[in-house]
Amino acid sequence: MDYLAGLNPQQRAAVENTQGPAMIVAGAGSGKTRVITYRVAYLIEKGVDPFNILVLTFTNKASKDMRERIMKVVGAEAKNIWMGTFHSVFSKILRVEAEKIGYPSNFTIYDTDDSKSLIRTILRELQLDDKLYNANFVYNRISSAKNNLVSYTEYMENAEIQAEDISNKRPLIGVIYETYAKRCFKAGAMDFDDLLFKTNILLKTHPDVLNKYQQKFKYLMVDEYQDTNFSQYTIVKKLAAAYQNICVVGDDAQSIYAFRGANIQNILNFERDYPDLKVYKLEQNYRSTQNIVKVANSIIANNKNQLEKNVFSDNESGDRIKVQRAFTDNEEGKIVADSIVQDRTTKGYNYNDFAILYRTNAQSRAMEEALRKLNVPYKIYGGLSFYQRKEIKDLIAYFRLTFNPADEEAIKRVINYPKRGLGDTTVEKISVAADQHNITMWQVICNPQQYIPGRIANQLNDFAVMIQSFAAESKKQDAYETALYIAQHSGILKELHADQSEEGRGRHENIQELLNGIKEFGEREDIEDRSLAVFMQDIALLTNDDKKDDKEKDTVSLMTIHSSKGLEFKNVYVVGLEENLFPSQMSLNSRTDLEEERRLFYVAVTRAEKKLTLTYSTSRYRWGTLTNCEPSRFIDEIDARFLEIEVVKPAKSTLGEGSFNEERRTWTQQRDTFTKPKPSMSSPSGTATTPAQRPKTTSMLPKAHVPTPGFAPDAANAFQNGMEVEHEKFGFGKIISLEGTLPDVKATVFFQGLGNKQLLLKFAKLRIV
Ligand code: ATP
Ligand code: MG
Repeated sequence: MDYLAGLNPQQRAAVENTQGPAMIVAGAGSGKTRVITYRVAYLIEKGVDPFNILVLTFTNKASKDMRERIMKVVGAEAKNIWMGTFHSVFSKILRVEAEKIGYPSNFTIYDTDDSKSLIRTILRELQLDDKLYNANFVYNRISSAKNNLVSYTEYMENAEIQAEDISNKRPLIGVIYETYAKRCFKAGAMDFDDLLFKTNILLKTHPDVLNKYQQKFKYLMVDEYQDTNFSQYTIVKKLAAAYQNICVVGDDAQSIYAFRGANIQNILNFERDYPDLKVYKLEQNYRSTQNIVKVANSIIANNKNQLEKNVFSDNESGDRIKVQRAFTDNEEGKIVADSIVQDRTTKGYNYNDFAILYRTNAQSRAMEEALRKLNVPYKIYGGLSFYQRKEIKDLIAYFRLTFNPADEEAIKRVINYPKRGLGDTTVEKISVAADQHNITMWQVICNPQQYIPGRIANQLNDFAVMIQSFAAESKKQDAYETALYIAQHSGILKELHADQSEEGRGRHENIQELLNGIKEFGEREDIEDRSLAVFMQDIALLTNDDKKDDKEKDTVSLMTIHSSKGLEFKNVYVVGLEENLFPSQMSLNSRTDLEEERRLFYVAVTRAEKKLTLTYSTSRYRWGTLTNCEPSRFIDEIDARFLEIEVVKPAKSTLGEGSFNEERRTWTQQRDTFTKPKPSMSSPSGTATTPAQRPKTTSMLPKAHVPTPGFAPDAANAFQNGMEVEHEKFGFGKIISLEGTLPDVKATVFFQGLGNKQLLLKFAKLRIV
């Protein structure tokens, strides 16, 4: 048991004490996840059957990593541990038990798009104003009800909820919720929240099923427990009730999902639920340098609501934390990219050792561009999943219908794709008929003469026969052959093949990639049922991060801070530290929200092992306009002794072309050209930026070093032939020619995939890239 030597006494005690309830609430990087990993290995070595162990992690990636580590200690047996996210584990259980609660075992999982599309349909049918009853808003409301285990009946009977909806001027959300839930049920579909909500119903209404899983999961472990919601908490509590061998680990300072219903109360409840609870304290951070740990501590000390914790590091003290200012988001990207390239070459790091973390997905664009310019390979985590691309979703909708023709959202998606004369009106008619006769849309489609006689009956018949032929094929053929048959006979392949544009070819390749994936799946030896139905089952739960082969690639990681939870990197850049961005504008109204935002910042900085860099920009394009930005209050809150504030970049960039001053000049010119009213544009020398327009700086920034953006812009020079530019709608392009005089200069720009466009500069909001 050599591996136990890699634990400190408290960690070891938590690993070796396997019986009864245990909780570890400890700071970032203190080895909580390591304790869970080793505890599982220890249990198996002690003779516990891996089939009796359930480990719940926050991401699929986390469970994959954990399994690999355990495998190193106990070997292939680790494959049999039940391990995964709440959603993936309980969707598996529901596949087996669904019929007990009235669902088919091949139920569809509606992703967020499907759910919102269904909500929009319902809004239309109920003739509700979709601005007031915004689909996102309604979706979040229903989601939060489900995560708090509130059924639609309870929702409508609950005076408090009703009062809230009435005061929000949206009294009918309960009715939408009811219709939505019934529609999902009829379509044999569960949304993401249902996977937990229905599991709760299953365990509540079927004591035999509960007993079965209580006996099965004799040992339960939950990582990132601070981010569980009430629905998850209840499942865990029920499953653990028989043996009470439950160990949860978490950090209240890293609770960042309150907006999705996570409740920190779950940690506090834990002590109440299990009076025999053993609590372990871990105080030593093994991940980061002392400076990083001190910075993290000084950040979280600003929060009032937190459990008292002492975190220290025995690692080297490390460099001070760099704070760097940029003048534009593009320059911010350049600073980060330059620094990565430099550290990689001078300090011998791999690209894998770097991560760029941001508050919102939109910030990745500037980072990506800068990295591409320097040929730095990168991967965006948590972005649009492969399975969420339109063409993939289209084909998958056909697969979904093959196995569950009741699936309404799939019907709506493909009934007229490729076009076959069954437009929106027809779909509406089908939907109305289905409602009137209380049957599914599919039943209407199979008997059009009976329900909606007319000239479209033939087309509907053809559609029904086609889907039935897919189902028949799936019974005869293996996964790949079925999928290929469907791709061909649905007309999707032909449709995409006909589109010879670059995007069209890309879409065709994506379909090929999906088919290849299915082929591989069909050749796997570790599973018995390799049918397309099985391949399909949990596809809606897959994310971009779940693709294989990531490990082998040496790439810089880009992700939102939310997706970075639990991970660690030698070098971390937290970018966009500006007021209204981080902390986000939405969080500024209440202390609770601001504290959650601060915990997010704490999560971000505690991902770093060796070097942490914080960056901000004094201007940024937001919603299409250039806005001045102030540095984030979070920078101010850090104890300045641990910081190294760099506001003036050397005149020459260390790498890449162009000097800083040139870039700043371009930016100033651009800003003056396009954000100022006309008179200054036509004035021959322009107007220098007044102090009031200058980006504000915080008190801690040494004023003497702040360069003044005071160029007298000559707007005619801002754009030149051959310049690469970006347009909001058309994307990247190159200026071919310029004609006319200010303020009516016209540019001809060549955009990739679009050809030449003529643009009047004063309206076009072009950006120089
Ligand atoms: P987070 O709160 O960010 O999820 P955590 O508490 O789960 O962090 P781990 O990821 O388990 O922390 O550990 C942080 C790092 O410290 C890992 O690289 C881990 O391998 C290492 N580590 C943990 N405990 C020890 C130890 N006793 N000796 C050496 N290294 C350790
Ligand atoms: Mg962890």
